[in-house]
Amino acid sequence: MDGREAGKPRTAGRGVKHLKKYDAIVVGAGVTGLSTAFNLISLRPDLSICVVEAGNGIATGNSSKSASGFRTSFTSDVNRKLARSTADYFIRVSSKGADIGLRQVGYLYLIADDRFAHFSSVAERLNRNGSALRIIDAGSLEKMIPGIVVEPASEDAEIMGLHRIGGGIFDPVAGIMDPVKVCEHYYAAALAGGVDFLFNTRVQEFITEADRPLGIPGEPFGWQKAQVGGVKTARGDIRGRVIVAAGTWAPDIVNAIGVDARARPKTRQIFVLRGQQLADLYHNGNFSTAGTLPFTFLPGGVYLRPETSDEAFDIGFADDFGRRFGFEEYPAADESFFEMNIHPVLSEYLPVFSSIRPSGSWAGQYIINTFDSNPIIFEEYGMITVTGMSGSGILKSYAIGRIAASLFLGIEEADLGNGISIRTDELGYRNRHVQAEELVF
Ligand SMILES: Cc1cc2nc3c(=O)[nH]c(=O)nc-3n(C[C@H](O)[C@H](O)[C@H](O)COP(=O)(O)OP(=O)(O)OC[C@H]3O[C@@H](n4cnc5c(N)ncnc54)[C@H](O)[C@@H]3O)c2cc1C
Repeated sequence: MDGREAGKPRTAGRGVKHLKKYDAIVVGAGVTGLSTAFNLISLRPDLSICVVEAGNGIATGNSSKSASGFRTSFTSDVNRKLARSTADYFIRVSSKGADIGLRQVGYLYLIADDRFAHFSSVAERLNRNGSALRIIDAGSLEKMIPGIVVEPASEDAEIMGLHRIGGGIFDPVAGIMDPVKVCEHYYAAALAGGVDFLFNTRVQEFITEADRPLGIPGEPFGWQKAQVGGVKTARGDIRGRVIVAAGTWAPDIVNAIGVDARARPKTRQIFVLRGQQLADLYHNGNFSTAGTLPFTFLPGGVYLRPETSDEAFDIGFADDFGRRFGFEEYPAADESFFEMNIHPVLSEYLPVFSSIRPSGSWAGQYIINTFDSNPIIFEEYGMITVTGMSGSGILKSYAIGRIAASLFLGIEEADLGNGISIRTDELGYRNRHVQAEELVF
């Protein structure tokens, strides 16, 4: 296994062993919980906040398994707001010296010829609204990407029905980050603000109660107004208003009290391919000053993410049909999946990969909102649930944390910075208003 290093164990912050009541209890120290805690303490430094995490440190869940790509160009208004505000935040803190492993390598979508005219017009529309997308014809791509085959013509390519690449769309305000460093950044900022962290502490269940308790065993009854009053753990009860940011674990724990997370887990895999023969492909100054091939999507969805440390690529493919929804605590990558689903396509478009097999692999899970693939942030029984990150939880993390914190504080319009704002109920399920995204490949 070549999985990424998860966060190191951290000690609890000030007074946590003695203080059993907080203004806010955040469940989960992945990127979502960390950003939420950081944003909440930034907006209201006077609040007492505790992050309760089952693992022995930050980023022990799916955040550390992320490809951690970010992009800013989307057609849907909500996607654009969430992604741009988060990218603005990341670029700003990086320029001030924060090390989150940010490299603006760009995103490159290689598009099948039958869809290229459509996507080019979408890109032109986005450019009229402030994007800086570059539309690249197939001939130029051949010059810019050493060894690419824009028109796979082998017998295998024909059997697989592979398309000719009609051209590419390059998004320069995009790139990659180190997901653990992103988590460490939010964690350090939350700690500096005075947030407490309680690691190795699993929330077993919620404290449920009536808002006006009568002291009758079995409360709350159906005729009472029920609320979540805190969490129960093996280390004791902690009282306070709860924000659940438990990623793929969230559906189970909120379901126990009759709350529906409205999102489902699905396994995703990444395979690491490295070798000296990849040097020409990897080192590429034709797209950005980062000097590597951008985060690149082939027609059909196989993607290549340049690794930071050496001439290696993380290769992934978010398959849907046949991939069951279901929670897995320790998902594992399956090399036969790579061999049968990814390698044949990869080596037709980029034959340099034909003789290379994975030197490492890992798997994690998305928590997918199956309606519109966007986060769901809602309040029920006084408890806020943040879920449905759907494979873009890092690139929207700042905005997600900001919205969750604003909802907690009763703020109707969350300020995402740089003049971007969004209604806090817009990502709920009652007044939800999320447009379909056209820029998906
Ligand atoms: C292979 C892969 C590739 C991805 N690529 C990208 C990408 O390119 N760009 C992007 O933006 N996103 C990507 N994502 C998605 C992104 O990584 C996730 O959306 C994000 O990390 C989710 O963060 P989280 O904090 O919600 O969940 P997690 O990081 O899983 O954190 C949840 C935490 O809750 C804790 N927890 C659970 N139950 C309890 C409990 N009962 N008590 C206490 N603690 C509990 C867990 O221990 C865990 O630490 C990818 C994900 C995968 C798997």
